[in-house]
Amino acid sequence: MLLKELREKVIEIALKAQREKLIPLTMGNFSARDRKTGYVCITPSGMEYDKLTAADIVVLDVEGSIAEGERKPSIEAPLHCAVYRRRKDVFGVSHTHSVFATAWASCNEGIPVVVAELAALIGGPVECAIYKPMGSLELAETAALRLKDRNAILLANHGVLAVGPDIGTAFANSVVVEEGAKIAYYARQIGVMRLIPEEECKSLRKGTMEKYGQK
Ligand code: 13P
Ligand code: ZN
Repeated sequence: MLLKELREKVIEIALKAQREKLIPLTMGNFSARDRKTGYVCITPSGMEYDKLTAADIVVLDVEGSIAEGERKPSIEAPLHCAVYRRRKDVFGVSHTHSVFATAWASCNEGIPVVVAELAALIGGPVECAIYKPMGSLELAETAALRLKDRNAILLANHGVLAVGPDIGTAFANSVVVEEGAKIAYYARQIGVMRLIPEEECKSLRKGTMEKYGQK
């Protein structure tokens, strides 16, 4: 079997996202790109996450053609592949329907940059890509383009797309977006939100990339 370990990692992250309540039922999808072969391991369409085994994960090339796997890949495979083609630094993609972030997306509004983590880990406010139907090529193209060099974007009336240098970080970025969405929601109820200025966002991002964590 091609890329067994990476397939298992994809399942581990999907289950984590389910535990964190970022996805209802079989919604959402997760993928990881192998650094050696460039192949993408992605969750199958519409299957229960806790029943998945490595054989259910589909291996694609970056154009979206199946390299190995019996299952139908996620309907968002074109979106994942479009992101991998545009972003050479991305090796993990996490698509969730988390509640607070999706509420902002349902207003077709981005998440304002009210907490430092959004600036530091996502790169600034989480913008909202215009509405396109789920699973469509139009969604893949517009969202991948709008993502630019950020680590997450909202999909209007749909959910969140988060990316990272590995699938664990992409998942972590999904959590950061949901927390930011929740805090921004409450902040708006409490009073006038004070946004982190653009220059400060850049400095937080730079500082985090240079100094945060153990590496
Ligand atoms: P899949 O089950 O095909 O991955 O679709 C779920 C989803 O979230 C579509 O946007
Ligand atoms: Zn979705």
